[in-house]
Amino acid sequence: MITTIQSACGDVEIHIAGKALVQYICHCDDCQAVHGRAYPCSLHPASAVSIVRGETDVFTLRTTPRTRCKRCGSYLFAEVPGHPVRGVNADLLTPEMFKPEFHIQCQYAAAPITDHLPHFKAIPARFGGSDELMQW
Ligand SMILES: [Zn+2]
Ligand SMILES: [Zn+2]
Repeated sequence: MITTIQSACGDVEIHIAGKALVQYICHCDDCQAVHGRAYPCSLHPASAVSIVRGETDVFTLRTTPRTRCKRCGSYLFAEVPGHPVRGVNADLLTPEMFKPEFHIQCQYAAAPITDHLPHFKAIPARFGGSDELMQW
């Protein structure tokens, strides 16, 4: 199964092979500084996410290298330093394709989150953090 996504201007096309490893919403200060809000993330093996057309730029604001379209600036995906995965910008997916399981880095959230998903203070234990949740 290949999912095709494009930047807003259509110059860049990306193919994603297979399904997401996990999907979540990241509230870290890095994501918020770049996006102006939390980042909806669809995490895939790095080898499954390929740029098949168009020119891209990679920049790092704080710690996370992020790839965007050179022409329109659409954010395409972010790397996770030290891990062979790419976090695709789920705004580029259809709503049916983005089913986040939890929120991470809620310690930086701009306001309390009120949905029914788990609200991890930092990163869940299954990704090397702790399962501490926010007490809003
Ligand atoms: Zn573009
Ligand atoms: Zn983040």
